[in-house]
Amino acid sequence: MCGATRFRAEGDPLWQTTCHCRDCQRAAGADYVSWIGMPRAGVTWSGPRRTFHSSSGVTRSFCTDCGTPLSYETEDLPEETHLYAPTLDDPSVYRPTAQLYFAERVAWLEGLRELPGHTKGSKSEIV
Ligand SMILES: [Zn+2]
Ligand SMILES: [Zn+2]
Repeated sequence: MCGATRFRAEGDPLWQTTCHCRDCQRAAGADYVSWIGMPRAGVTWSGPRRTFHSSSGVTRSFCTDCGTPLSYETEDLPEETHLYAPTLDDPSVYRPTAQLYFAERVAWLEGLRELPGHTKGSKSEIV
């Protein structure tokens, strides 16, 4: 969000999915996370980033200047770094092909598309 931490991910995406698991919900403070899996060897970082163990064998990272969550790595997949798709400079390249942990999805996703959609804040036009 603040731009202090940057990453570069070279290579083709390994996979692209959303994850509805409770750990992702808590770590992102969001309904679900849109992940893009990249070859770990092609990922380089710069800026103020902190890593922490979020569960056994799992390391997540975030920008220490603004708190934006940035990555997920697990010992089970040592060749992969999972990046939060919305943190890409151009998130329009993201093409999810599946939803993981769908059984753990938040209840309010059902029917969300039927709610009024404002172009911006709550005082703006409904489209
Ligand atoms: Zn997850
Ligand atoms: Zn930041």
